[in-house]
Amino acid sequence: MIHPEDINHIKQSDRQFIWHPFTQMKQWLDADPVIITEAKDCFLKDANGRWYLDAVSSLWVNIHGHRRREIDDAIKAQLDKVAHSTLLGLGNIPSASLAEKLIQTTDRSFADLRPRLSKVFYSDNGSTAVEVALKMAFQYWMHKGKPKKQQFIGIKNGYHGDTIGAMAVGNVDTFHSTFGPLFFKTKKAPSPYCYRCELGKTHPDCGLACLDAMENILKTDSENIAAVILEPMVQAAGGMIIWPDGYLDGVRTLCTNFDVLLIADEVATGFGRTGRMFACEHAGIVPDLMCVSKGITNGYMPLAATLSTDEIYNAFLGEFSELKTFFHGHSYTGNPLACAAAGASLRIFETDNTLENMKPKTELLKIMLNEIANLPIVGDMRSLGLMAGIELVKDKQTKEPFPWEAAIGWRVALKAREMGIMMRPLGNILVVMPPLSILIDDLKYLLESLKKTIIAVSEE
Ligand SMILES: *Cc1c(COP(=O)(O)O)cnc(C)c1O
Repeated sequence: MIHPEDINHIKQSDRQFIWHPFTQMKQWLDADPVIITEAKDCFLKDANGRWYLDAVSSLWVNIHGHRRREIDDAIKAQLDKVAHSTLLGLGNIPSASLAEKLIQTTDRSFADLRPRLSKVFYSDNGSTAVEVALKMAFQYWMHKGKPKKQQFIGIKNGYHGDTIGAMAVGNVDTFHSTFGPLFFKTKKAPSPYCYRCELGKTHPDCGLACLDAMENILKTDSENIAAVILEPMVQAAGGMIIWPDGYLDGVRTLCTNFDVLLIADEVATGFGRTGRMFACEHAGIVPDLMCVSKGITNGYMPLAATLSTDEIYNAFLGEFSELKTFFHGHSYTGNPLACAAAGASLRIFETDNTLENMKPKTELLKIMLNEIANLPIVGDMRSLGLMAGIELVKDKQTKEPFPWEAAIGWRVALKAREMGIMMRPLGNILVVMPPLSILIDDLKYLLESLKKTIIAVSEE
């Protein structure tokens, strides 16, 4: 047990010295901060000894639960060898083993589909994995003698991280509009967000209408386009928007036909989150570049990878003097501790039979979301695998949103906390994204509590 005076000192240090991400610090300073001290399986414990169900997987990174012995042991074993050595000019054992395992994993996922992902470029977070993919795509076309192909197409509501390049291809106005003047030029394709279709179509045509819009951009401009970048199947941070069938494979076909690369940002969706190892599998397509991070180490260590095809990799081969090198790398690229954690996390998919065991939970989530959908302030709910969004609206008939200032998502999240559920909403959209290893009874408790909470907030 932590002594109350020590807790107060920690809270004081947090308030005095930390600038929290995505947080209005004035609001933070007015509240009593929750300090997490330990965790087990799907639960987090705070400094007052209270336990919470981790309903958002510690911001979408946890897959197999907290404190998995296999991963703890892999890191401890690696600690006795070497904690960090650079990949700039040197190799190390965990990064090579993990790269092999990642390619075996994508080979199993995509089987004999083409193109084939065959190379792994490491970095240390989702944003940098995206920066790497953008730079690779850009430079690839220089080497292919098509230097005019310099622009990117991003999708509305897309989110790819917070570094400048990743923001430039992202389209979540709340996060990005302040920095607009810093961005390089991108094209924006409409998002197949069927509940609020900006093209004014109703559901059955929603995806196809967006596909037409994408085709029109490519028809007029493909000679200037290096790549399309998208979050396959689920636009996560943009509002848990789940795409209709036909859209993602349609974009893949368009990219192939118009000689444009496809970058799939699987940072949120990768590693089983959507019920398949990678979300691209739902559409039966393979991208030319694929970014992974979040779930890769089960949330233990910062690590990311950008996977590429031989076609792209080979375009960078040449004599030293030709300057075809990919001039990019980070100090912690291929960190051995992180790679050891990721290797152990990948093995757990086999020993736990994670993807098979999540099926009944995915079903339960769907059934209970259908009940929640009937509540008066719930406009839409959507899920794929164990990734769900519940969109709260002021008026169910007109779909009129709650004003931003109403902070409706936060009101629900804070009330849920009283019931021992730790959530983080996206504006008016509640996110349900527990670790894949959650027990079915815990998932039931989570959704029942959430339902009660939404009812309570709607009656306030
Ligand atoms: C979280 C996220 C990122 C950014 O990852 P960081 O590790 O936070 O930099 C990029 N793309 C998607 C789809 C994400 O969900």
